[in-house]
Amino acid sequence: MKNLSIPLKNILAEKIFEECVSGYRDKGKVDNLLQCKEIICRDSNLYDELVPKELEKFEKSLLPANITKEKIINVYNEKFVKGPGRKYYNEIKKQAIRNICPICGIRQVKTLDHYLPKSQFPTLSVTPNNLIPACLECNVDKKDDVSLDSKNVPVHLYFDNIPDDKFLHVTVMDNLEILYYISCPNVEDEGLKARLEKHLDFYKLHELYSSHAASEIADKIHMWKIALEEFGEDILRLSIDSECRSAEMNDINSWKSALYRGLVNNFDKLLAYLQL
Ligand SMILES: [Zn+2]
Repeated sequence: MKNLSIPLKNILAEKIFEECVSGYRDKGKVDNLLQCKEIICRDSNLYDELVPKELEKFEKSLLPANITKEKIINVYNEKFVKGPGRKYYNEIKKQAIRNICPICGIRQVKTLDHYLPKSQFPTLSVTPNNLIPACLECNVDKKDDVSLDSKNVPVHLYFDNIPDDKFLHVTVMDNLEILYYISCPNVEDEGLKARLEKHLDFYKLHELYSSHAASEIADKIHMWKIALEEFGEDILRLSIDSECRSAEMNDINSWKSALYRGLVNNFDKLLAYLQL
């Protein structure tokens, strides 16, 4: 989990909306939808100001009487995912490093996730800062039931200041089962701490990371046994430590970095398991 650069910084959400709407041929429909421009502008500005730290203060605008939320959501589906807005969609997707989902850090980016879901916040459907590159699972798992509680939402990858210190850790069980948790005593922002923890719960990352760790251990265990038998404890320790440092250079809070940190810190448990 790392910060992403804010996408499309110089392009206003209402301009993107207008460009998308221009893709409809029906002039009546275009004029009808353009009545939303002002509230899209207002809600997007408010979003930038309040999300996620002061989410409680975010009050979404009421839609004009003759426009349903489905009509606005359709603009996203019909003219942003494809049509005139696609170039913006692609630009936001490109924020993901190596096309890896920045939410889970494991799977491939396939879509954009609405941080505040479009079903509840239709005026933020095409607001770039509300759109995060995501894999399908991280998008689907989110559901649509987001509460306006700044301690009960996941980390915002554009606006939260994600610590560059270690915050993802593991408990190593005697059978080498690996359990992930968040601990960041140096972070003073209680809201951010809560969002980091919520992030793991919300996207079911505890389970995902534990299964990746189990797979990694299964891949390496025979090599570790051989290293221990042929070269001894110190060489094995050095090898685990090198894996840890290498993973940390790439991402200090990846599932892999946390796994190898845990194995370095619980080397006696690893030894005991290998000698069973
Ligand atoms: Zn993901």
